[in-house]
Amino acid sequence: MTDEYQNRRTFAIISHPDAGKTTLTEKLLLASSAIRLAGEVKAKGERRRAHSDWMSIEQKRGISVTTSAMTFEFEGNVFNLLDTPGHEDFSEDTYRTLTAVDSAIMVVDAAKGIEPQTRKLFEVCRLRDIPIITFINKVDREGRDPFDLIEEISDQLALDVTPKVWPIGTGGRFRGCYDMEHNRVLLPAEDQALGFERSVDVSSPDDPKLNDLIGADIMDEVRGEMELAAEGYAPFDLQAFRDGTLTPVYFGSALRQFTVAELLRDVGRYAPPPGKQKARLAQNEETSVDPDAEFVSGFVFKVQANMDPNHRDRIAFVRMCSGKFQRKMKLKVTRTNKALAVANPIFFLAQDRQLVEEAVAGDIVGIPNHGALGVGDTLTERDGLQFLGLPDFAPEIIRRVRLDDPMKSKQMKRAMIALAEEGASQIFTPSLGSDFYVGVVGSLQLDVIRERLKAEYDVAASLEVCGYDAVRWLSGTESDIDAFVRLNRNAIAHDRYGSPVFLARSQWEAGYAEEKNPNVKFLKTRERV
Ligand code: GDP
Repeated sequence: MTDEYQNRRTFAIISHPDAGKTTLTEKLLLASSAIRLAGEVKAKGERRRAHSDWMSIEQKRGISVTTSAMTFEFEGNVFNLLDTPGHEDFSEDTYRTLTAVDSAIMVVDAAKGIEPQTRKLFEVCRLRDIPIITFINKVDREGRDPFDLIEEISDQLALDVTPKVWPIGTGGRFRGCYDMEHNRVLLPAEDQALGFERSVDVSSPDDPKLNDLIGADIMDEVRGEMELAAEGYAPFDLQAFRDGTLTPVYFGSALRQFTVAELLRDVGRYAPPPGKQKARLAQNEETSVDPDAEFVSGFVFKVQANMDPNHRDRIAFVRMCSGKFQRKMKLKVTRTNKALAVANPIFFLAQDRQLVEEAVAGDIVGIPNHGALGVGDTLTERDGLQFLGLPDFAPEIIRRVRLDDPMKSKQMKRAMIALAEEGASQIFTPSLGSDFYVGVVGSLQLDVIRERLKAEYDVAASLEVCGYDAVRWLSGTESDIDAFVRLNRNAIAHDRYGSPVFLARSQWEAGYAEEKNPNVKFLKTRERV
């Protein structure tokens, strides 16, 4: 069997908006030579936006709404970098993206430390024990004391920390960084425009060469700091890192290209190759799928529709989990039990899309389709296999869809289903009346839906407050659920898979119903079937 997957590193960057994720992404691509000139990621972003002006909201708000994947090679490894949208409204989408990675780089702003969104994303990583590499960015600016930052990470996230690269001065006194493992000093490149830091090997932090390169006064301070750091923190332990209990810490500057190559090198050296994925077999039996398994399998963690409005394309992003996928292979979608011939799968390279001939565990493959694939779907050669861990979350904002032109009701429903299949919204049909509800986790998504309904499906609609504030999936025996549904018909709706949900006017009411009906479980998440 193939062990090609061993050199795959599938990872994401998690951070609070503005910490430097975009800049770091660009510099990582540059360090790997996947792109030649700084500025390319932005340029590509702009081209993509120009293509997809359906997302004028993306431009107006200046945020990135789409999750994308990028594949590049460096020193014999194949890196698959998944972009997690940083805006807090998209936590659900982001959550699913994180189910598709094996490790993450956490970017922290040296002046701000751990910020709310960083923390939230970190918690998601912890749920799955995803190993985290910490990059403390912007050390070229006035920032907080390095020890202070490290202590904060260690205390707030309950992690052991091992400093790997230390800053030499900050702000106006910033001179470079020091690679503590390899005894190398990272200095500004001779020609900034051309690229990366210059590195000089030294014998130890005490090497007198450093005084000439840096200046004796700053170097004396930094020697003292590094000595303290080396004594005060645990040495790096690969197993502890891979178990998710220890994080190596790198100080650097994405903008000025300090510690970027070192970071990439260590994602290659330390981050784990694809591991086992939890799944379920036909008879509800839980199992896990080994990347070594012969049969091909993968799951859809993201669907992007209408990237190009002229072509109505729809791309499902699939994370491969086992076997060796080959183009034109027929794979079964477990949910629908239908076979899908995968004729034109694509890899997303930094500047290009490329037809996939073969893919192994860890790879991210884009599959164009016309609605056969939804978020959470499993594609496999093994009958009945369904990957777990890609739940729907109970929406907290529920709106009635009100059409400007009632004749367009059919079109609206088709559009809403297509949008729901992308995974960022959910739809509910109440059992009484002819209303149609949409539920989302973050309010920005409402603007996105309204805008896209109009631009992509030519349906003008408003999304009205409808009095409901909470949704719960019902679970229990068939007769218990039936009894509850009969007694509460005016508060029952069905999701797009036909499962009954309880609509509550408040979180409190949902809790009250739960208390009064001990035979029925009221669920805030739901695994796809
Ligand atoms: P994102 O929102 O996390 O993607 O952040 P960006 O990459 O867009 O960066 C936010 C801002 O911080 C931009 O103005 C960047 O130029 C700036 N920035 C990013 N990295 C650094 C750095 O290492 N040093 C300094 N001084 N500024 C940086």
